[in-house]
Amino acid sequence: MKLDVLSSENDQDPWYRKGLSFSCTQCGNCCTGGPGYVWISTLEIGRLAEFLHLTPAQVIEQYCRKINNRFSLTERINRGNYDCIFLREEPTTRVVEGQTIRTTKRVCSIYPVRPLQCRTWPFWDSTLTSEQSWKQGTQRCPGVNHGKKYTFKQIETIRTATDWPKQSPGSTK
Ligand code: SF4
Ligand code: SF4
Repeated sequence: MKLDVLSSENDQDPWYRKGLSFSCTQCGNCCTGGPGYVWISTLEIGRLAEFLHLTPAQVIEQYCRKINNRFSLTERINRGNYDCIFLREEPTTRVVEGQTIRTTKRVCSIYPVRPLQCRTWPFWDSTLTSEQSWKQGTQRCPGVNHGKKYTFKQIETIRTATDWPKQSPGSTK
């Protein structure tokens, strides 16, 4: 998991004032790659425990590592990459020029209770610092600059979120 959250100040008039586009293609790139951290709060560990029908202590023991008094999800090495412990490969098919091709897709097995860090990607302090950091920090994410348009207000709501919103700021429902 290469993507990490960094803190930084944003300008009074941020470069993304006119909004940005993003639609996840479910490629799974952000859940693997080089070693990194997926931070998870104790509140989120409780939600994950409920989802997995485990106790919070069991979730910590089986799926987390402690780093400087914080918890991060465990990684496992898969073909040279550091996969999030909850990344799964599932068989799927797609049709190309009339031919059905069997392939795999990578999915988050705890999607309904994934941590805030995963929910707020790609609208992080570290990626929004400048246009250059947006380009560099999101180059492995094919969903960036495509699909749904997020307004400045929606981006800021996501960037500054401290817990899951009741409704995603990007939701059209
Ligand atoms: S890298 Fe981007 S497009 Fe791929 S799963 Fe992550 S958020 Fe979605
Ligand atoms: S919790 Fe899910 S979305 Fe977050 S890094 Fe792990 S597999 Fe990816």
